[in-house]
Amino acid sequence: MKLLWLDLNSSYAHSSLALPALHAQIATDTSIEWEVVSATIGENVGMIVNNIYRHRPDIIAATTWLFNHEQLLHIVSRAKALLPHCTIVLGGPEFLGNNEAFLRKNPFVNGVFRGEGEEVFPSWLKVWNRPDSWSHITGLCYLESSERYCDNGIARVMNFDHLISPEESRFFNWSKPFVQLETTRGCFNTCAFCVSGGEKPIRTIDMTTIRRRLTEIHRQGIKNVRVLDRTFNYDNKRAKELLALFLEFSPDICFHLEIHPALLSAELKEELAKLPQGLLHLEAGIQSLREEVLVQSRRMGKLSKALEGLQFLCSLPQMETHADLIAGLPLYHLSEIFEDVHTLAGYGAGEIQLESLKLLPGTEMRRRAEELGIQYSPLPPYEVLQTREITVEELQTARYLSRLLDGFYNVPTWRSVTQQLMLAHSAFLSDLLHYVIQLGLIDQPLSMEKRGLILYEFCQKAYPEAQPLVSIAWIEAGMSLKKLPAERVKTKRQVPFEEWQVIYGEYHETLRLCFLPIHEGKGYWFGFESEAQKLQPVFKATNLHKDSI
Ligand code: SF4
Repeated sequence: MKLLWLDLNSSYAHSSLALPALHAQIATDTSIEWEVVSATIGENVGMIVNNIYRHRPDIIAATTWLFNHEQLLHIVSRAKALLPHCTIVLGGPEFLGNNEAFLRKNPFVNGVFRGEGEEVFPSWLKVWNRPDSWSHITGLCYLESSERYCDNGIARVMNFDHLISPEESRFFNWSKPFVQLETTRGCFNTCAFCVSGGEKPIRTIDMTTIRRRLTEIHRQGIKNVRVLDRTFNYDNKRAKELLALFLEFSPDICFHLEIHPALLSAELKEELAKLPQGLLHLEAGIQSLREEVLVQSRRMGKLSKALEGLQFLCSLPQMETHADLIAGLPLYHLSEIFEDVHTLAGYGAGEIQLESLKLLPGTEMRRRAEELGIQYSPLPPYEVLQTREITVEELQTARYLSRLLDGFYNVPTWRSVTQQLMLAHSAFLSDLLHYVIQLGLIDQPLSMEKRGLILYEFCQKAYPEAQPLVSIAWIEAGMSLKKLPAERVKTKRQVPFEEWQVIYGEYHETLRLCFLPIHEGKGYWFGFESEAQKLQPVFKATNLHKDSI
């Protein structure tokens, strides 16, 4: 029997664990001939279908996500037309809800799996060509020949720690910048908008196995591991053990973790504070800084503790902490979103991700959408269109705000200046947003240089006292001293100033100096290596008073 796995990703930078996770469980079964067609959603559908057709598979299987759903159906419907005897089965988070309407609408799909596939998919492969035996396959949903809908519930892997690890499959992709390591399955929390909110019980892998897997990941030369642990610190004792284990791989591997800031014990905080630079990269789930919004979303964890924990994480200089907010949550107003973004900027969050809520199949919030007053797209990506608290236009503003944050706050070049201006002027963010929308650029991809020009010109008009800050960021990013944001820079015949205060670097005679005047002959000097290709200054000094730096 020939099984073709259609590996359809949003880009080649992403790779799904589903194929190696399933294949690893049955890699030794010689009765199955595995073929893979990998593609991205941007590729030509006809070419992908031709590629599938060449293999003449008996089964086509694929994982369906929000982002590949539509393209996947275009592909498999054509493949089925060319290969009418081929059995098509799909799985993935898109099928966590009721699947009857989907199966009736897409009759070229023979069945869909709800839940976790590692145990049930191999069982199904034993009976794939005997649909009368499919009723024993937990999680499988399908239409019988009589058109009756059969729903076999949800599949959960109970022996999670006994699964063969995806890295043992020949389909595990070692060529990506990241590998994903699932150390826990399920989540303790009950967030009504999340597919993991109902994923119970929590199952874990023991430390010995994690160490063995990390040793192999390290041997393969991987530098970044995304730990797929829904909430890394739900169990503080285990979190401490994991941190000690991660340290064994320092400084070679950076671990990316999701952390719940409300659940940080004093002991764990102490451990985190001791960790070396670059070992951790944290995603702190926060969603909203409003108690009533979190309660309505059934997210557990006290807000005051979450804020205190987040402030602590953001203050740690040796790791970057990203925080996320979700526009479109019930009871969440646009004005509150702006305020919360300011609060996060005040904490010094490394990035502020502002997502728009999507009502995913199988989530409690989708089931309760009407009662909660949420209107959402019935088609993927199921985005919220309006709630009782946020209008269609306001949600559009929130999406624009998200783009603005990505373009300015969430990039190291412009973060510090954006943050300083946001904190100094409460209207800065909304004014800049309005300006970029007016320019018709909010939806456009913008180079770093273009963003600097926008920021400078905006400050010229609205916040002239902030112009020097943009000039400094521009110079320190190594951008051209001949362009507008460097208009006040003096490059000719600059000599060292006797009483300057050095901010960084060491002055020596071969440095090429330039001077940015701020007021009354005072300002900043920047030193550039004359010979080196490096465009950023290596030296900075000032004669401004300490309080005005
Ligand atoms: S949002 Fe995070 S904490 Fe909440 S249920 Fe989902 S994975 Fe768990």
